[in-house]
Amino acid sequence: MRIGIFGGTFNPIHLGHLAIAIALKEAHYLDHVYFVPTHTNPQKQGVTAASSEHRLKMLRSALRGIADCSILTLELNRPGPSYMIDTVRELKKDKRFKEAELFLLMGEDLLQRFSEWKSPQELVQYCQPLVAKRSGAELTGDWQKDPELRDAILRGITETPLYDVSATNIRERLKNGLFCGHLVDRSVLLYIKKERLYDSI
Ligand code: ATP
Repeated sequence: MRIGIFGGTFNPIHLGHLAIAIALKEAHYLDHVYFVPTHTNPQKQGVTAASSEHRLKMLRSALRGIADCSILTLELNRPGPSYMIDTVRELKKDKRFKEAELFLLMGEDLLQRFSEWKSPQELVQYCQPLVAKRSGAELTGDWQKDPELRDAILRGITETPLYDVSATNIRERLKNGLFCGHLVDRSVLLYIKKERLYDSI
């Protein structure tokens, strides 16, 4: 089995996330993609995210009806900060994943600070990174100086049409009462409105 692991804060999940998950799944013939909501991202300190419960409910709602995509809650169940290498080590011990080939899905923006992640060399040994990259974009980051990281990352670069959208931009639009139906799944938007999640950020 070829299994994709897609970590993120998903605060909230948006159509850019779904687009890269599906594009990478198809391009690399993955059997399944697991979305892994983070408890707290060590590289996003100072940004208060919606609670784990709200983020999980939005993810469930957005993924309803999408084949071969589901959620793993192991990071939410661990105290933060969340490190992907700890998650992958846990998965390797889980008999559901023992025989699986693991792939780490991410957008190109994460590459900039990838070498600061916990144990990046070990991570890429366990888990081939698959990086969704906009065509023509220049890749940056200190990972380029480390031959092992460089080889692994370059092997997984995948040109994908990217949506020009981020959760930050969506939270800002919501706060300003702007339309977001073209950026976020309808059921997620209804949930956000019902729970008044991003009225003040
Ligand atoms: P924020 O704006 O709050 O930082 P975000 O939209 O970047 O959030 P995250 O949950 O932090 O979302 O990202 C999870 C993953 O999704 C990361 O790998 C990130 O690179 C990727 N990603 C986010 N938005 C896009 C997009 N528009 N296109 C491609 N990848 C994306």
